[in-house]
Amino acid sequence: MKLGEILQASTDYFEKRNLESPRLSAEILAARLLNCKRAEIPLKLDMLLSEKLVNAMRRGVMRVGKGEPVQYVIGQWDFRNLTLKIDRRCLVPRPETEELVQLLLDCKPLRAIESPLILDFGTGSGCIALSVASEFPDARVAGVDVCNDALSLARENAQSLNLNDKVTLFNSVEVDLADIFEGGTLHAIISNPPYIPTAACDNLSPTVRDFEPRHALDGGTDGLDVIRYILDESVMLLASGGVVFFEVSAEDNQASDVSRYMSELGFDKINVLKDSSGAERFVTGFLADGV
Ligand code: GLN
Repeated sequence: MKLGEILQASTDYFEKRNLESPRLSAEILAARLLNCKRAEIPLKLDMLLSEKLVNAMRRGVMRVGKGEPVQYVIGQWDFRNLTLKIDRRCLVPRPETEELVQLLLDCKPLRAIESPLILDFGTGSGCIALSVASEFPDARVAGVDVCNDALSLARENAQSLNLNDKVTLFNSVEVDLADIFEGGTLHAIISNPPYIPTAACDNLSPTVRDFEPRHALDGGTDGLDVIRYILDESVMLLASGGVVFFEVSAEDNQASDVSRYMSELGFDKINVLKDSSGAERFVTGFLADGV
């Protein structure tokens, strides 16, 4: 069978199942099997595939056809300039979260600090913490999660990307943050926390709802439980002038609710920023000096 034929058959199969981006998913699977970049696929359409490859492709297509995220099926995904191991232990990294990292990298007051201490709260695959460690060479980075499965994946990623001496990872339920960080020493906290309101979780697309870890999505009744928890902790942990970067839902006025809560806690220079699709997706702010 030629690559072009199997791509077409896979695309048709995904289309029949009403999956999003059918051709793209087929090409992602094929690129992984052929160990090439997706951009090279159109140049290889006449290539004859061995029976082994055809069968492997079929198995991948079956999984994606059942709604499993293609990222779990190929077992990896690119996030900024890193290729991360990705599986059901973590949320699939989203492009918006790449933009969240950019906000931190572009933050001039933070860049002006020598060896700043930065905490990624809810690190999952480690995508944020590891990107910050790789793109902000001077930074000291910690990542925490409540889930040991996610942490084991983040550790595997840190190891294989050779970043494990730059990022410390630990379980924020098993250890008290106040035991790890001296009060008033963190320069930044960054987080893509679970932020979907509980009642909305059942209405997520089946690819998300049935496969991604619920605890990485469900943010409680209004979706803001974890963000409030992080902000409450941040008041004691951050240095004065320390900065927070949150990804939030574009729905339910989350950005303005988070902004209000931040100003009640004594943050200023609070900013709501849009993602590249124009949705209010990020909230940042600096902790003002105490009284
Ligand atoms: N953006 C994800 C989604 O809509 C949710 C990620 C999160 O809760 N942090 O599926």
